Amino acid sequence: MDNYDAIVVGAGFSGLYMLHRLREAGLSARVYEVGDNVGGVWYWNRYPGARCDVESIYYNFTFSKELLQEWTWTSRYAEQPEILAYLNHVADRFDLRRDIQFDTRVVSAHYIEAAGKWRVETNDGRVAMAKYFISGVGCLSTSSTPRFEGLDTFGGEQYHTGTWPHEPVSFEGKRVGVIGTGSSGVQAIPQVARQAAHLYVFQRTAQYSTPAANRPYDREYVEGIKANYPAIREQVLKSWGGTTTRPRGDRCAFEDTEAERRNRYEQAWKEGGWMHGLYKDLVTDPRANETVGEFIRGKIREIVKAPEIAAKLAPTYLYGVKRPVMDTGYFETYNRDNVTLVDVKADPIVKITPTGLRTRDADYPLDAIIFATGYDAMTGALFRIDIRGKDGVSLRDKWSNGERIRTYLGLATAGFPNMFTITGPESPSVLSNMVWSIEQHVEWIDACIRHMEVNRIAVIEAKPQAEEAWSRHCHEVADATLFPKGDSWYNGSNVEGKKMSFPIYLAGISVYREICDRVAANGYDGFQQA
Ligand code: FAD
Ligand code: NAP
Repeated sequence: MDNYDAIVVGAGFSGLYMLHRLREAGLSARVYEVGDNVGGVWYWNRYPGARCDVESIYYNFTFSKELLQEWTWTSRYAEQPEILAYLNHVADRFDLRRDIQFDTRVVSAHYIEAAGKWRVETNDGRVAMAKYFISGVGCLSTSSTPRFEGLDTFGGEQYHTGTWPHEPVSFEGKRVGVIGTGSSGVQAIPQVARQAAHLYVFQRTAQYSTPAANRPYDREYVEGIKANYPAIREQVLKSWGGTTTRPRGDRCAFEDTEAERRNRYEQAWKEGGWMHGLYKDLVTDPRANETVGEFIRGKIREIVKAPEIAAKLAPTYLYGVKRPVMDTGYFETYNRDNVTLVDVKADPIVKITPTGLRTRDADYPLDAIIFATGYDAMTGALFRIDIRGKDGVSLRDKWSNGERIRTYLGLATAGFPNMFTITGPESPSVLSNMVWSIEQHVEWIDACIRHMEVNRIAVIEAKPQAEEAWSRHCHEVADATLFPKGDSWYNGSNVEGKKMSFPIYLAGISVYREICDRVAANGYDGFQQA
């Protein structure tokens, strides 16, 4: 049986940086990764059009000045191959691969109280022990395909955006169906439309999408950013979401006149990017929210030539309560002759057939189906591991399958000693620039582990009262916004039968960082240590 100081699951941004820090602390560590290489999301998501939607210059590590200086992004929103190349570069530069075991899934992790260690079993039947068990499994790493009747009978090609083949896929001359119009679908649809003989988009919920306004970076701009990075970092640390792309508005929507609001929205539409931060009440006041919702609907009506298609594409829910999407020519795609929009709310999907897809009212013959149907998010990858803490209690049961998540700071949970969750539920995670949130968590965990090693502490565990209070606070902050009011993967409503308490801390990354730092400075307040 192998023994390590720490076991880390996942070799995306989280696992790679965690491994680096553990090594720097002089600890032995093992990373297990299902894929055959590093990259996480960027290893799996190779669908056409995949790119980041946080600006490239912020969507990278900042822990190494040298790394920051030597890497140069080529466009505002880097494409998947470039981000994957970056993560491979990080792995090589810090010589990380030698401690990563690829093609290996962690199937269980049980805390053995008598030993004060985690017993971790992998799908190759091997067992390893470690004092620390650290999850870097990702919030969006378990793809979800609805259980459509007849799914297995389809004779054509099937893809999920989140597990795209590594070989080139051509849709040339084919009839292709895309199910799903979230960020993945919206990125893929314009690209697939250019290749396919005919593209059918099966849309359940219309999507608020705003232009990305992607552009190549010119060298001067990037050099300017690099020269200025310390100051930029300071600004980002004070921000709500982890970028300075568009500082959050300090006014309420109705403090401006209609014409001023319109100008502001027009300007933002031209610049590209999300719009929910333009006024400070857009995500708290439904009336304010409606002003930006109506602006985007107006844009859809302007872009899409056929009024009946524009009407189907116009979302009616509150803007921002589903994760807003950014696109490159998405709505324009519906002006193409080879694209058909099928509203599957009005005409639901009945089954997948051997030759295509059947809705209540029609049959669609297809050569390929792309499932852009998203993820069992936030808890999916954690629950696929049989994680058991003290007294054999499983994490899944403790959190009632997600309905009753309880964490302390999103980093730890009572009853699961020496276990840490990078970007775990109830941290800012997916409502922030995740690379910065990952860095913050990794550095906090690293400091906590060093504190334990220096002070010869064997066990650290969140106190139940501390996590109860954190969870309550997390919900109070969320309930003051519109976010929990929508159906989205944030609360699990995209997965049949799943229900989740709203699992994201919404006070912003700067407030959150201060709280975490204070906990550490106070000797890990809220944790019991032995
Ligand atoms: P991941 O990258 O998801 O890596 C987790 C890894 O753990 C995976 O490789 C997985 O195979 C492995 N794993 C899981 N379970 C096990 C197991 N049991 N055993 C072994 N290995 C396991 N965020 C942003 O901030 N900005 C963006 O622009 C952005 N774009 C995105 C685009 C897409 C298509 C997706 C899906 C997500 C995007 N995200 C974005 C969110 C993204 O999740 C984070 O930015 C970041 O990549 C997460 O890194 P991670 O290492 O925490 O998780
Ligand atoms: P998603 O946002 O959950 O979208 C899934 C889509 O599939 C939705 O349109 C959903 O409709 C539809 N769907 C699900 N089940 C269906 C069913 N049974 N029948 C018909 N339609 C169904 O997933 P995603 O697009 O993969 O994005 C997930 C997250 O990953 C994003 O929000 C973002 O955080 C990240 N991401 C980022 C980028 C980027 O730009 N950087 C790109 C991709 C992903 P409903 O809305 O009705 O549920």
